[in-house]
This record gives sequence, C-alpha cells and structure tokens, in this order.
Amino acid sequence: MTSSFDISAEHAAIREGVAQVCAEFDGAYWRDLDARRAYPEAFVTALSKAGYLAAMIPEEYGGSGLNLSAAAVILEEIHRNGCNAAACHAQMYTMGTVLRHGSAEQKQKYLPRIADGSLRLQAFGVTEPTSGTDTLALRTQAIRDGDFYVVNGQKIWTSRAEHSDLMVLLARTMTRDKVRRRTEGLSVFLIDLRALVSHGVTIKPIRTMMNHSTTEVFFDNARIPASSLVGEEGTGFRYILSGMNAERILIAAECIGDAKWFLSKGAAYAKDRVVFGRPIGANQGVQFPIARAYAHVEAADKMRFDAAEKFDRGEKCGAEANMAKLLASEAAWEAANACLDAHGGYGFAREYDVERKFRETRLYMTAPINNNLVLAFLGQNVLGMPKSY
Ligand SMILES: Cc1cc2nc3c(=O)[nH]c(=O)nc-3n(C[C@H](O)[C@H](O)[C@H](O)COP(=O)(O)OP(=O)(O)OC[C@H]3O[C@@H](n4cnc5c(N)ncnc54)[C@H](O)[C@@H]3O)c2cc1C
Repeated sequence: MTSSFDISAEHAAIREGVAQVCAEFDGAYWRDLDARRAYPEAFVTALSKAGYLAAMIPEEYGGSGLNLSAAAVILEEIHRNGCNAAACHAQMYTMGTVLRHGSAEQKQKYLPRIADGSLRLQAFGVTEPTSGTDTLALRTQAIRDGDFYVVNGQKIWTSRAEHSDLMVLLARTMTRDKVRRRTEGLSVFLIDLRALVSHGVTIKPIRTMMNHSTTEVFFDNARIPASSLVGEEGTGFRYILSGMNAERILIAAECIGDAKWFLSKGAAYAKDRVVFGRPIGANQGVQFPIARAYAHVEAADKMRFDAAEKFDRGEKCGAEANMAKLLASEAAWEAANACLDAHGGYGFAREYDVERKFRETRLYMTAPINNNLVLAFLGQNVLGMPKSY
C-alpha cells in the first residue's frame, strides 16, 4: 500500500532497503523481546550498519545527508514492516540539536562516530517528575565550577538511557528567580553517560505497558566537562524547540507505518476468516471500520508529507508538524482498533502481534507531546484563542 503522492525513486529505494533489513526481524523476534522487556540490540546494530540511523547526518561527517522527508520514510517503513523504531528513532532528531547548535569541535568529535554506529546518541533528557508538559518548570540544575558543570536533579521518562552512550540534557544554568523570562536560563548539554554512570548518575528502568526501555535518571553532583555545553549558555530552550517540529514529523511517520501495518493485517484477516459461511470482511460491521481508518490514514499521510516538505524547504511548519502528529497518531489508533476488532479473540493472542502493536502505537497520542497540547498549539497559536497556560 504505497500512497500515490509518495512516488519518488529515492523513497522507493529507501523503502526497499529498509524492508530488507526488517525481513531479518520477524514477529517472533519482537515477541521475545517484548516478553523479556529486552532492547532490540541486533535490530539497532543492523539498522546502523545499513546506514539508516545516520540518514540525516551530513556526508562530510559520514552520514547520507538525506532530508527529513526521506528520514521519515525510513521510520515509517520500519513500522510498516511490523518492527519498532522507538528503540533508536531519537538519534535522528537529537542529532539535529548538535548539528545546528554544536561547535565545530563537538560535531567533528561525535558525528562521524554516531554515523558509523560506534557511538549511540539515543537519550534525550527533558521531562522531569514535577514539570511534565510544562518543560519550563524543570528544576535540574547545572552550575558552573571551573572547567566543569555540577549537575543535580532528576529526569523521568528518559528513554534508552541504558542503551545510549550519549545524552542530550536540558538543565537550568540560572535559577528561575534570576531570569526575566521563563524561557531563559536553560542550557543544552551533550553528555557522555558512560563516564557518568556510578559517578554521579544513576539510571533506573521504568516498566511500562510496552517494551520501551524508558528510565529515570538521577543526577547527584555529577561533574560534566564545560565543553559539554551546546551553543550558548542560557539559550537551550530555543535549541530544543528547533528540533520539535522534526520530532513530530518523524513520530507521525512511525504512526503512518503502524497504521498501514494494521490495515494490511486487518484486511487480510477479514478476507480469510470465514464465519457463518462467508468471509467476515464481507460484513459492513468489519469492512467499514477498516475502510474508514484507511481514509483517515491517507489524509494524515498527506499532512505528514506536507509538513516534511515544508521543513525541508526551510519554511515555517509548526502547524503542519503538529497536525501531522495529531492526525497520524489518531489514525493509527483507529486502524489499531479496527484491526483488533476484525481479529475477534485472536487479536488478543500474542502470536498474532496485533496486541503488541496495539500497545506500542497507543503511546504516540501521549508522547513525545500529548495531543491535548497539540490542540492547544493550534487553538492558541494558529487560531488565536486564549491560552490555558
Ligand atoms: C514511554 C514514554 C517515553 C518517553 N520518552 C521521553 C524521553 O525520551 N525524553 C523526555 O524528555 N520525555 C519523554 N517522555 C515524556 C513525555 O514527553 C511526557 O510524558 C509528556 O510530555 C507528558 O508529560 P506528563 O506525563 O508529565 O503529563 P502531564 O504534564 O502531567 O499531563 C497530564 C495530562 O494533562 C494534560 N494537560 C496538562 N496541561 C494541559 C493543558 N494546559 N491543556 C490541556 N491538557 C493539559 C496532558 O495533555 C495530559 O493528558 C516519555 C513518556 C513516555 C510515556
């Protein structure tokens, strides 16, 4: 099921290459990891070796220098093939923070090694227990002490921290009472987790309804080199914001991939399963929810490409990126429910993979940003209605 507007030869080649990697990692592989809550090490290594995780790293640093539209096709295709990019997708957008705002030295030191897979930049520490969606209320502090910053505080939902060498960290370098605006006094750091674990950093896994390798990260007088600072001190919130549209578009693409997987799986089962002497897919109660979800997925897919193309042309795309994430996550959830319903009781059996994908795709209505906050962005920033925060 390829959309009519996604016809470029480049995208077709990407889809074919990604599908070949995914073919090595079937449902049994993912079910086993899911049962053990284990990290898909072999899958991430295979994707890195094939160069897909370095898609957006410029060629001068060893990557493929592809644009966001192409990167989104990679993630979509992973999900469309029944795999899960949540184990590694962050590298695509966190790397952008280093690329856009890092020093020449940081880029030279890290990007080639991220590109060749010898270093992983999978962790992104923004959310805290007491700030939640209100990022600007974060409390983790990084205080300058000679050639170091001393970090104290706690992050939560820092996914993949146990499987990443590096982490992009957002921390307060000036306390709230000393800044004029809430957006000031925050700084971004690129920190080496390997050097810090057991030296001021403790990582504790959080068990969730799906296999997501998410964690809590505690900082207790962790000393990080001053050279870890990305860009200028105090302007970190702007750097994080600059990566958010890319993140939303990439997540939307994963949702589209999930949705297409559910639609194919649901339609195939509805054609095969015979009850009352005819395929269940002949019944409108089974057929129409799948057909309706298909229409919504196609519409969301168009919005995703619209957002990605605007991003790649350097145009403003906040509204489109948010709408793509909203529509794609809702369409994936609709397709997930239609597929589960079509499978009847079998949808709940692990061996069909539907229940696993069902749990996995639900996340994207909540994270990386809740759809309520997407609606708030549209209501307030696009339609000019009053702010709730
Ligand atoms: C599995 C998982 C992985 C994650 N990975 C990462 C990660 O790697 N790095 C990271 O930094 N974060 C990560 N997150 C955090 C995620 O981005 C946050 O969970 C999310 O931003 C919401 O924060 P919260 O959970 O504290 O919800 P809260 O902020 O407490 O919100 C709770 C509810 O209230 C609603 N709400 C709050 N204020 C408003 C308002 N003004 N208008 C309408 N509704 C409102 C929200 O939409 C939500 O439904 C992850 C989360 C999960 C679950």
